[in-house]
Amino acid sequence: MKNAWLTVDLEEWYHLDYLKHLPCRETGARVIPRIFDFLDMLDEEGVKVTFFCVAEIAEQNAGILREILRRGHAIGCHGLDHELLTEKSLEQFTEETCRAKALIEAAAQRPVTGYRASCFTMERDKLEALRSLGFKYDSSKIRFAQHPLYRNLDLTGFEQVDDLVYAEGDFTEYEIPTLDLARWSLPISGGGYMRLFPFWLLRILLGLYAKKHENFTIYVHPFELTGMPLPLPAQLDAKNRFRCLVGRRGNLKKLRKVIRWLKKRGARFTTLEADRRERGLS
Ligand SMILES: [Zn+2]
Repeated sequence: MKNAWLTVDLEEWYHLDYLKHLPCRETGARVIPRIFDFLDMLDEEGVKVTFFCVAEIAEQNAGILREILRRGHAIGCHGLDHELLTEKSLEQFTEETCRAKALIEAAAQRPVTGYRASCFTMERDKLEALRSLGFKYDSSKIRFAQHPLYRNLDLTGFEQVDDLVYAEGDFTEYEIPTLDLARWSLPISGGGYMRLFPFWLLRILLGLYAKKHENFTIYVHPFELTGMPLPLPAQLDAKNRFRCLVGRRGNLKKLRKVIRWLKKRGARFTTLEADRRERGLS
């Protein structure tokens, strides 16, 4: 393996698509202030990470954003409010993303040039809008046709410059990998799937992945990095309750094992910003 890019979608637990229309925010419970164990683990492992922050919570977490930067990580944008891009018009998306960028930059006191769409719902016209707003990279492409929300972003005109990396001019797209098994794409790069699979299985799947790939991207969320109890509303159905809670306990340890497994196979962990710099793109 060559590069591993660990990314965090810096959002609250109630931003999950199946929770956001339920009365969760009123509880006041927040997981982002609990990420210090994760930050310490990253320091111990010497791993630098790209955090994509939901802009509406940037101000209340300004101190944490600046601590993240102080520790050498990078900060990008994960939208204004975590609503799906497919539910927004191009005009609404452009206006909101302009505001989101300004909100995160004000909180972090650093320019923001990276983006990840909520639930990987990026579309080509919105990618062009991002570029016009001064963004330099995006990480929203995933090939996973079985998922009802995810889109496989059209990158016509882009050149593939490396495994999972596409460029057009000075703009870069970083793909979220899946593992192709027969006619199925298996999402092995993070979120609920990483929580669901035991490490012994993940190790087998990553081994299969590493036979065909040189680079790997991981994505995680703050609620997956702490065992803090979540005050889930009674209306939440059993399936989504399971999706939310499965494998949370011990996930931070499992992530450390994944990091060590990848490092042992030669993977270097850098931020996406650092990767662009190394490629001479910024
Ligand atoms: Zn998200």
